[in-house]
Amino acid sequence: MAKRGMLIVLSGPSGVGKGTVRKEIFSQEGNNFDYSISMTTRQMRPGEVNGKDYYFVSKEEFEKEIADGGMLEYAQYVDNYYGTPLKYVNEMLDAGKDVFLEIEVKGAMQVREKVSDGLFIFLTPPDLMELRQRIINRGTDDLETIDKRMEKAKDEIEMMQNYDYAVVNDEVTKAAEKIKTIIRAERWRVKRF
Ligand code: 5GP
Repeated sequence: MAKRGMLIVLSGPSGVGKGTVRKEIFSQEGNNFDYSISMTTRQMRPGEVNGKDYYFVSKEEFEKEIADGGMLEYAQYVDNYYGTPLKYVNEMLDAGKDVFLEIEVKGAMQVREKVSDGLFIFLTPPDLMELRQRIINRGTDDLETIDKRMEKAKDEIEMMQNYDYAVVNDEVTKAAEKIKTIIRAERWRVKRF
């Protein structure tokens, strides 16, 4: 029987650049791990593709998925649901493949409870004000949403201690490289704890 794959969780405050770093990692060849596409009830942003960036579903569909036990984890975030469909992750892990999740911290902590041998990486902003500026520059959210996200970010940074590694996102390519180095090293680990 194949050795079960490793579950890799990248988390950190929204606006820190998780999505950008994840895309940088997956734009490169030879990663040996697959991305788990999340499900969400939020509106599609310009340029996003259903089934690639997210599975965009209605609140009713998402709640049915939860009721049916179909989610590995999920969280309500700025008035929307986000979650990881369990089926794909299980299939990949059972086949011995490593799976990469990019999720917010409440969801990551649910995964931590369920998957004790997962690899948990926290992406941090160089500082909170820079985080605020990045969110504003992105220009996709109104001020009220930005303030909600900032409040959340402070709590999330305190969550860092629950992770195996913290990577500062000072530069996207460097952060991506550090994350890939961590993943490679974990594959060679003899003892987990
Ligand atoms: P955005 O709306 O900017 O795409 O994502 C908002 C937040 O939800 C980000 O922090 C993102 O990482 C997180 N997120 C995306 N997919 C999931 C998921 O499947 N589960 C959880 N818990 N968070 C997710």
